[in-house]
Amino acid sequence: MTIYRSALPDQVIPQINAYSFATSNPSNTPDSKVILVDATSKREITFGQWKHDTRRWATGLHNLGFKRGDVVALFSFNQVDYSITMFGPLVIGGITTTVNSAYTTDELAHQLEDSGASVIVTHPELLATAIEGAKKVGLPLDRILLYGDKEVNGFKPYSSTFPPEGTPENQLVPVLNLNGQPASETTALICYSSGTTGKSKGVELTHVNFNSNTCQVTPLEGDIPMHENIAMAVLPMYHIYGIQLHLMYGVYNGVQTVVLQKFNPVDFLQTIQDFKIISLNLVPPQVLMLVKAPIVEQYDISSIRFVMCGAAPCSRELSSALMKKFPKLQFRQGYGMSELSPASHVGVYSNTVHGSIGGVMPNQEVRLVDPETGKDVAMGEPGEIWVRGPNVMKGYRNNVKATIETIDPEGWLHTGDIAIVDEQQNFFIVDRLKELIKYKGFQVAPAELEALLLDHPLILDAAVIGIEDKEQATEVPLAFVVKAPGPGEALVEVDVESYVASKVAAHKKLRGGVRFIEAIPKSAAGKILRKDLRVLVQVPPKAK
Ligand code: AMP
Repeated sequence: MTIYRSALPDQVIPQINAYSFATSNPSNTPDSKVILVDATSKREITFGQWKHDTRRWATGLHNLGFKRGDVVALFSFNQVDYSITMFGPLVIGGITTTVNSAYTTDELAHQLEDSGASVIVTHPELLATAIEGAKKVGLPLDRILLYGDKEVNGFKPYSSTFPPEGTPENQLVPVLNLNGQPASETTALICYSSGTTGKSKGVELTHVNFNSNTCQVTPLEGDIPMHENIAMAVLPMYHIYGIQLHLMYGVYNGVQTVVLQKFNPVDFLQTIQDFKIISLNLVPPQVLMLVKAPIVEQYDISSIRFVMCGAAPCSRELSSALMKKFPKLQFRQGYGMSELSPASHVGVYSNTVHGSIGGVMPNQEVRLVDPETGKDVAMGEPGEIWVRGPNVMKGYRNNVKATIETIDPEGWLHTGDIAIVDEQQNFFIVDRLKELIKYKGFQVAPAELEALLLDHPLILDAAVIGIEDKEQATEVPLAFVVKAPGPGEALVEVDVESYVASKVAAHKKLRGGVRFIEAIPKSAAGKILRKDLRVLVQVPPKAK
């Protein structure tokens, strides 16, 4: 067996409540330090206020009857106080599930039901969807609370549950002590991911999972004292990449984090210029924008020193072009998945290896395994990444079958991603074994779109694959569709595209188009042969 490990020593991972860990304060952050700023409203939150308000939110939840193991759903785009709403339930042994803010009512209802959420915190802009979602699953409407300080149509801000400002610590609900074993078994977060196959599933991450990734990445940081760093949170906070880096890591290290509610090039560039942002954590299309968009020239973004890219492949050409254009900037790529809390690999800023996801982070073991034979591959040969370590999820919520298909009895998580490794132990992703499609870092599960397509009365069969869109540095979903005989013959591509667009969040639209086909290629066991479909994509569609 060939096991790859970091050359760095293992880190101590505290087996404690994630709130206690986040506030353990290794950088001696003063209570008066502003750790969060809203890029637009300029609202600031100090470290002291953050701790107090998180405890007040926990107390508010407790007073609502919220107990250990109960679940709060956060349904919002980025908020300056998102981390407060996320950590509050954890203080008392509750769980937070984060919901993609672009979700439709059905998508939200599915997550509410699957996670068992009993409270929703949402933004007034999303209130109508939240109400519909809550009604679908029978969640009482008085359990919907809002970001912001205004009551809207009778719905109250979450802060209305708080005991008064300045309430002494001993009158706030105590932080649940999870010392020892239970912290590695107690679920803190439920993020949603399709994993290697099928539809979206609840990834249960424990307090220790959540603490571990911040400990693992700390020795790999850029050469800047944490308290001098200014980061921008533009990654969505409902995805584990944003949660870990901006909510946990940022608070733990006392980094000043400037929060952008939603990504758009103007606000993004303006915020870098106004706040003299030093660190950026991005996805590949955002790196592409920095390299190519003419608008970038209109802003002074020379403050940026560190750019990390993750969540989807960043090509060698793209990161080389970025560093060529901004020679003072250091770059690295990271790799992981929700099930790994999320990172297993990260590069080193001072030694960028373009196209590589970096090396194995401390505290983990990694193998590259031939998925056919189950044997480790030789150096330089492609193999599936298997990971074992403290950041590997507890499992999929209420889904033992999917859990045992993903984590084997020896504790190895099979990622579904294919990589090679060089002699310096730099890993390179070369293929994806699993079905997952990534549109600009967002997950699109083929199985979900296929189920939707099969629901259409004029569609007999369907399969969805990802195709590369080089212009946008992303993959896009493309559907192969078999028309139902008779009335189905009249179906045209745009009908299918609009049907899907009306049912799903925007990132799941069939941007790769629709191809009609006589039959979906399947194995004897009925499994869609996606490789054969990928070959078909190389053949231009027949003229209509
Ligand atoms: P998620 O759970 O949404 O973070 O998605 C995880 C998946 O995103 C991984 O299994 C990979 O397929 C893909 N991914 C994440 N980071 C990278 C990267 N740096 N290069 C290539 N693929 C990546």
